[in-house]
Amino acid sequence: MLFEPYKNEPFADYSDPETLAEFQATLKKVEQELGQDHPLVIGGEKVTTGDWLESYDPSRKSRLVGRAAKGKGAEIEKAFEAAEKAYEGWSVLPMEHRARALMRLAAIMRRRRVELAAWLVYEASKNYLEAIADVAEAIDFCEYYARQALPLAEPLKTYDFPGEENTTTWQPMGVGVVIPPWNFLLAIMVGTTVGPVVVGNTVILKPSPNTPIIASKFMELVEEAGFPPGVINLLTGDDADLGDALVDHSRTRFINFTGSVATGMRIYERAAKVQPGQFWLKRTFLEMGGKDALIVDETADIDLAADAAVASAFGFQGQKCSAMSRAIVVDEVYDEFVEKFKQRAENLTVGPADENSDVSAVINERQFEKILGYIEAGKSEGELVLGGEKADGDGWYIKPTIFKDVPVSATIACEEIFGPVVAVMRARDFDHALEIANGTMYALTGGVISNSRERLERARREFQAGNLYLNRKITGALVGVQPFGGFKLSGSNTKAGGPEYLKNFMEMKSVTERF
Ligand code: NAD
Repeated sequence: MLFEPYKNEPFADYSDPETLAEFQATLKKVEQELGQDHPLVIGGEKVTTGDWLESYDPSRKSRLVGRAAKGKGAEIEKAFEAAEKAYEGWSVLPMEHRARALMRLAAIMRRRRVELAAWLVYEASKNYLEAIADVAEAIDFCEYYARQALPLAEPLKTYDFPGEENTTTWQPMGVGVVIPPWNFLLAIMVGTTVGPVVVGNTVILKPSPNTPIIASKFMELVEEAGFPPGVINLLTGDDADLGDALVDHSRTRFINFTGSVATGMRIYERAAKVQPGQFWLKRTFLEMGGKDALIVDETADIDLAADAAVASAFGFQGQKCSAMSRAIVVDEVYDEFVEKFKQRAENLTVGPADENSDVSAVINERQFEKILGYIEAGKSEGELVLGGEKADGDGWYIKPTIFKDVPVSATIACEEIFGPVVAVMRARDFDHALEIANGTMYALTGGVISNSRERLERARREFQAGNLYLNRKITGALVGVQPFGGFKLSGSNTKAGGPEYLKNFMEMKSVTERF
């Protein structure tokens, strides 16, 4: 065994005064580093273009987190050249060599974990626990994929044939484009990058324009960890300049995307077209949105259900693909659930992330307006129980919002809002609840709170969700424990943090020699 056994990186307990003080001191330190300029990284070179993308703190609108260089056409070409050149050496290294690079990256992140978490507070308005959990997940991806890569260096088991030697092995594919979302700005970015990289591919990383600065911090760690230049290239910039251009490019071998269903479907379609000079079919890995439901039946512990609902719905302002946006509750316990859910939600503090508020600002003005638009629609679709408006402050704050008696066909029951808004729906019985839960185009996460063994077993079989949780919250999948990814239009089920993930980024070759 090369490495010690895998275990998840612990989070932290901010009710402990020392841990809290350390976080606050680190926030102050990182605050001094805000507002700086961050270059592209192409073939290990720091490149600026004179054009900048600005990233502001969603909790304090005028606080500039930093400026990131905007890459465009010329930088795209340079990035492909650098990634192709690096591929020649990186792809033929022993798997162990690349795995060790990930282990070193994980170690560096662990040493700087509070500092990285502080950046997440400033750039995405994560509170302390959400921020440290995001960093811990990034560390886990490196540790887990380093270990998962090792057996892929071994030949596969095939049958013998007399007089021949037959060997079947995995090999990397080439240069891929990595397109993560802004919500797990470190974890998903790191995971979707280092997965393909550890098995020998090289990549162009194009982070979300909402969160480019953390990507630049990540590149510092990549350099420190000793990855050869060009293995991971960073192109920050506008979607209009980079999105289609990278997807359509004839030199793109695969696209590792996580984001909305609209962007995912666009990538799926465009990547299907074989471009002049392109001698392969692009592979696309598309992890997309959710309209995730928690079912509560009449046998359930309603306190447990209300706790699970609050944590799943309002953690990180509901901006998780796994967030509970539908609570489907059996008639008999409906009123009790709504009351307990409301009581808990109204105790949540709303305010700046750097003050560790329970619920902080949503990512930007566009999302803020979009969420408020859904809330207005909700007012005519259901009955407002809580919230329903913006909250005071110098950030994009929206109060935790609960609607009840929402019809199944309502927009707030069908569309992903990606904010702190929940539609509570009434079901006649468990069968009806399951029918409502499955009645969407999405199938990402879901949950059931019940004390009926028979129903929990039925949910295992019939609840359409890539990640189903029974008698707990429906967010917070752990790398290596709950491989993550959905069915239906929630995505291509690549299962990040799962034992099959890395094979997506490899091809199998069979060699026969007759002696
Ligand atoms: P988004 O689709 O707007 O953007 C995702 C990424 O795609 C970003 O990097 C963006 O810059 C890029 N992009 C935008 N237009 C593009 C184009 N034409 N071509 C190529 N790339 C383009 O999504 P978002 O707002 O960043 O993230 C939120 C969404 O992500 C939600 O729908 C959420 O459910 C989903 N999500 C899914 C998972 C999962 O594992 N299934 C995890 C996290 C988030």
